[in-house]
Amino acid sequence: MFELSKQIKKVHVYEPGKPIEELEKELGIKNIIKLASNENPLGPSPKGVQAIIGDLKNLHRYPDGNSYYLKNTLAKHLNVKPENIFVGLGSNEALDIIARAYLRPGVNAVYSEKSFAVYPIVVQLAGAEHKVVKAKDDYYMDLKAHLDAIDDKTTVVFLANPNNPTGTAFSKKEFEEFLKEFPDDVLLVLDEAYYEYAIGAGFDIENGIEYIYDKNILVTRTFSKIYGLAGLRLGYAVAKEEIIADMNRIRQPFNVTRPAQVAGVAAIEDKMFIKQSQVVNEEGKKYLYKEFEKLGLEYVPTYTNFILIDTGLPTRKVFEKLIHKGIIVRAMDGYGFPTCIRITIGTMKENITFIDKLTEVIEELREKGIGG
Ligand SMILES: *Cc1c(COP(=O)(O)O)cnc(C)c1O
Repeated sequence: MFELSKQIKKVHVYEPGKPIEELEKELGIKNIIKLASNENPLGPSPKGVQAIIGDLKNLHRYPDGNSYYLKNTLAKHLNVKPENIFVGLGSNEALDIIARAYLRPGVNAVYSEKSFAVYPIVVQLAGAEHKVVKAKDDYYMDLKAHLDAIDDKTTVVFLANPNNPTGTAFSKKEFEEFLKEFPDDVLLVLDEAYYEYAIGAGFDIENGIEYIYDKNILVTRTFSKIYGLAGLRLGYAVAKEEIIADMNRIRQPFNVTRPAQVAGVAAIEDKMFIKQSQVVNEEGKKYLYKEFEKLGLEYVPTYTNFILIDTGLPTRKVFEKLIHKGIIVRAMDGYGFPTCIRITIGTMKENITFIDKLTEVIEELREKGIGG
């Protein structure tokens, strides 16, 4: 009899939202503002888009199975060798492949609660044990707790810096102290999906790529966030040659599409767009902080393009009311934050509309005596 394995039956199925067009029809509203998925509000990298258009005539050809130009461009940009780079269908593919390579029944992975939702999924799919460490004061990654949780069955530690969904980050100095204590025979997967935003905020964050020969470290980055190419599904990982070679055994031969490869090359060189995205994010952040303070709302200072806000009101109620006013945010009850929402920092126009609608929602809920 064919049947789903027990470990896969236990996987929490990711429930994607409805297409925005459907939602607009259903609710009878137009121009919904989506602040739910940490996407770049400025749109895709224009150079990336141009490169895709230029290559469309070659769509009947398979992509280069080794992503030669993309790896070479990345290698120069990151100051490593092409052999140090894995490219994949989003950085999520790298996370999945790492789990399939180094996790199995009988070993375990260490990661934090209140962190990226993909870590528990890939660990579960690989059939390994989960060692989930507590966050520090709810919002911060507890580096020491990660070290303490490692035992002789641990093969992989997943750690996001900055972290999603809290937006918090640890400094380069803290990272270096952690690394000194990190065992030599465990793989550290350092997820730097928001690295460029932390740099844009002037934060002294580690560049994980500088440490790939010091210990066993795999750094993941993505084109989904600041490069504005989430719809393409393109990400990469950087590590020692041996680790990358292991990953290449597992991936599909043509895992990265032609449009993704050409757009990736062009987007890396789109320095103006990256700079502009950082500036818009910093301006939006300052505006939103000020407005939250006026509203008396607690928020977690962020090093990313999103903010976790504690409204003191039930997150599902806030979410529902905002959606009816044309704003999609992320409800955080699933992460153990029953009164928090997470919002992406938008364009200034989007931020202003969001604050208007949020103000209305808070007044309406408080009038009804719900929460605060
Ligand atoms: C958004 C995000 C990613 C990106 O995943 P992709 O598969 O590259 O789109 C990775 N890690 C974290 C923590 C994220 O928030």
